Amino acid sequence: MKHRFQAVKGTRDILPPESALWNQVEQTARRVFAAYNFQEIRLPLFEETELFARSVGADTDIVSKEMYSFEDRDGTSVSLRPEATASVVRAYIEHGLHTRPGLVKLYYIGPMFRRERPQKGRFRQFYQIGAEVLGSDHPTLDAEVIELVLVFIERCGLKGCTLYLNSLGCREPAPSGAEGCRPKYLAVLREKLQKVKDSLGPDSRRRVDTNPLRVLDSKVEAEQPVIEKLPSILDHLCPACREHFDAVQQELKDRGIAYEINWRLVRGLDYYTRTTFEITAPGLGAQDAVCGGGRYDGLAELLGGRATKGIGWALGTDRLLLALQQTGALEAPQDLDVCIVWLGSAARMRARELARRLRDAGVSLELPYEKTKLKKALGRADQLGARYALIIGENELAQGKFTLREMQSGTQRALSEAELLRELGAASGG
Ligand code: ATP
Ligand code: MG
Repeated sequence: MKHRFQAVKGTRDILPPESALWNQVEQTARRVFAAYNFQEIRLPLFEETELFARSVGADTDIVSKEMYSFEDRDGTSVSLRPEATASVVRAYIEHGLHTRPGLVKLYYIGPMFRRERPQKGRFRQFYQIGAEVLGSDHPTLDAEVIELVLVFIERCGLKGCTLYLNSLGCREPAPSGAEGCRPKYLAVLREKLQKVKDSLGPDSRRRVDTNPLRVLDSKVEAEQPVIEKLPSILDHLCPACREHFDAVQQELKDRGIAYEINWRLVRGLDYYTRTTFEITAPGLGAQDAVCGGGRYDGLAELLGGRATKGIGWALGTDRLLLALQQTGALEAPQDLDVCIVWLGSAARMRARELARRLRDAGVSLELPYEKTKLKKALGRADQLGARYALIIGENELAQGKFTLREMQSGTQRALSEAELLRELGAASGG
């Protein structure tokens, strides 16, 4: 038997009519981004592996076990992008975007790749919509990017999401020369973890040394009582980070945005500093995070650029759609306006002309290539889900009027070409 191909595990095809829902969501995103004056950046799907190792962090799950990396023919190691912030910052530095006036406000839409265990809401090729603001660490911006993604989610029709907020403190020494508050906190955390190590599972025990913050992330039931008693970063923020975090919260309140503080929200990427946040959606089971984001003030320097403050988020489109479909908030739009029914060869020529004009006017139209009888042709129009059948037969040709049949009600009207263009062109928004 011949080998039959299937999509690779963890990847999938997005077929119509579902693809129309994806387009709706992406269009909504583009509109909201435009309203907040963000512009699109289109990035490569792969980068030098080192870019991700340095930014996301070599000890993170993403880099240590989830990347699709391969050696290019010249020997360089490249990887399919597991996320896009690193690429955005790389592009910002490479093109000197800091010379542009004002803040750099960018968004991207596209696939990401991580070799994780596929399950509900978790794929190996998945999609993200993301936003980044580079050039300032003003707390208002933190609140504004959060507002932006919440507005987008709401416009998509998803209700019942929760916003979780945390601050991870600063990494770099402050301008005053004082050490960042995160390293200090990590020392306290590590010390405490050493004492309770034996009551943790193997994964967490390993992380005590490699990436202690990630222990806070653990979902292992038996570890929860131990983790709950660990010291909180929020009790260890330096005055500057404390002030920043308070200002972000005040700004959120002033915008009427509800949030919950979660000191255990650490996110799986090393580059985050200060504000971090996550948004969860109902109906998604264990993989309920639809959006994650935060500030990454030291990232540009880490990648060899000048000091640049930045904040952004990435939203998982697959999960957003899953949540929307589960709450029934999204319905596939009816796409086909007209199916032409032509009877006889003279009618066929007229149909071809008319089809072109209507299509030029933005009407979505199907023009059958085969000769059929009226009844069968109407049946076909019905099957295709057309809103109207446009009937062109001997009578119509003789009178210069066409019969427009509304499929659902069966009502028919005789309209001239000009009337058709007016009526259908307006209905299709074309
Ligand atoms: P999770 O905790 O669910 O693994 P994450 O913290 O790894 O998420 P981020 O790297 O912050 O996720 O990416 C932002 C968003 O991208 C997530 O909130 C999620 O909606 C989506 N996402 C991440 N990984 C996947 C995946 N493998 N499949 C589908 N969506 C994903
Ligand atoms: Mg993950």
